[in-house]
Amino acid sequence: MLNFDFYNPTRILFGEGQIERLARLVPAGARVLVLYGGGSIRANGTYDAVMSALKDHTVFEFGGIEPNPSYETLTQAIALVKRENVDYLVAVGGGSVIDGTKFVAAGAKLDEDPWTILEQHAKNVRAALPFGAVLTLPATGSEMNSGSVITKKATQEKFAFMSRLVFPQFAILDPTRTYTLPARQVGNGIVDAFVHIMEQYMTVSGNTKVQDRFAEGLLQTLVEEGPRALAEPENYAVRANLMWTATLALNGLIGAGVSQDWATHMIGHELTALYGLDHAQTLAVVLPAMLRERREAKRAKLLQYAARVWDLREGDEDARIEAAIARTEDFFRSVGVATRLSDYGLGQDVVPAVVNALEAHGMTKLGETGEVTLAVSRKVLERSL
Ligand code: NAP
Ligand code: FE
Repeated sequence: MLNFDFYNPTRILFGEGQIERLARLVPAGARVLVLYGGGSIRANGTYDAVMSALKDHTVFEFGGIEPNPSYETLTQAIALVKRENVDYLVAVGGGSVIDGTKFVAAGAKLDEDPWTILEQHAKNVRAALPFGAVLTLPATGSEMNSGSVITKKATQEKFAFMSRLVFPQFAILDPTRTYTLPARQVGNGIVDAFVHIMEQYMTVSGNTKVQDRFAEGLLQTLVEEGPRALAEPENYAVRANLMWTATLALNGLIGAGVSQDWATHMIGHELTALYGLDHAQTLAVVLPAMLRERREAKRAKLLQYAARVWDLREGDEDARIEAAIARTEDFFRSVGVATRLSDYGLGQDVVPAVVNALEAHGMTKLGETGEVTLAVSRKVLERSL
């Protein structure tokens, strides 16, 4: 196990009806900006619940944060924050709204162009506005972590930043707020959470029994509850387990003391930036190809994964590994997410385009050991066609 420094200050308020508690969670007297996406919260009553809880606060609002939130949109929110002297933010939505709010929180405290936050890996973030989140889509873990992924449309760049200053102060997780999710977003959320766990678990750190068993439990929960979440959208217990799993998948706990991979995510970000695939769609395409390409480096862990997550314990080792990867792909498809680039009408020309983008962005030694060079990424992309 590696040395680690685990810090997570986000308070979680979980369960039906918790949105009412916004009234006290947001400091009295604050000038509050409520940020949201393209309107799902208006259609399903979440907007009304939030505004009713904040009826005694001074509230401004900024809607229209798009999936894969853009620098172009978010700079408008930063301008509003500065113009109205907003001093507290409330994100209401999925990962895109929460990530976007993190960018606004940090960007509002900067004098220079906020895109420098991405260029400088947040080294220039010295302060951020406080904020809380109301989660409507279990997927990213953004509600309890310090990461944010922002897209600059003008240059087709999608970069992540992390800063301790952008942990939400609180996150409200009400599973009933997820009932209106379209099947595509439920499937995406399941796949994103699954791959977050794999990026931390399917690595070569060694002797991380506790983290491994947490990770395996979370993976098994997704395998059991994922298809049920689609079949029974209003099953509270299923949605509650899914929601808490997605949060725990990326709140730092299972990643503490383990080396972390993230190569699948980095390649996936390029696919979204260039071709507009949903984040999870890229992951479902890249992960199986990545596991097949890296099977020797990850051999011991793949065998552990095969045994403990898929109960594949007998027979030839290589066959067990291949079966575990095939089961992973089947699982992604069972929640409605395709696993090949060709399923999205993409072909061979994607390979050089993505490799060039990775090179331009310095993504030349990915993975927990830096072994995912451009040549390896190329092979992964070939396998994902
Ligand atoms: P999302 O982009 O936030 O939302 C996807 C869609 O779901 C939107 O169209 C949204 O509609 C809709 N939606 C959300 N909640 C809904 C509900 N309860 N009912 C009906 N529709 C609903 O999806 P996401 O997967 O959570 O976030 C993806 C982003 O997070 C990507 O940019 C990805 O790169 C990033 N990410 C961040 C982290 C991190 O650690 N910070 C990790 C992984 C990925 P409206 O816009 O109308 O609300
Ligand atoms: Fe992700």
